Amino acid sequence: MSDILTKGVCRVCGCTEDDPCHNPNVGNCWWADESQTICSHCSDKTIAEDPETKHCINSNSDDDLADQMQEEYDELYNKILDGVDWEIEDLDRLLKLHLDLNMRL
Ligand SMILES: [Zn+2]
Ligand SMILES: [Zn+2]
Repeated sequence: MSDILTKGVCRVCGCTEDDPCHNPNVGNCWWADESQTICSHCSDKTIAEDPETKHCINSNSDDDLADQMQEEYDELYNKILDGVDWEIEDLDRLLKLHLDLNMRL
């Protein structure tokens, strides 16, 4: 943990206003101190210990994975739409990708 405190960056989790933490019950984090070096989701024990709390949602989100899944989804979708040369497993996979992708929204 760094001792250098940067205004606008949480000293615990490193979140910023563009990269906040999120908890489904209270929403995104806010600054818990005036110097803006610790966020609510780190300073508030209840929120910090909530397993639903996700820190720095933008940098921690696996966008790459989602992109890959979206690509595979589109590919399968077109393949099935073409109506040739697809198997029932492709449909299962498509459905699974669809559900996974929706969960990320
Ligand atoms: Zn924080
Ligand atoms: Zn935060």
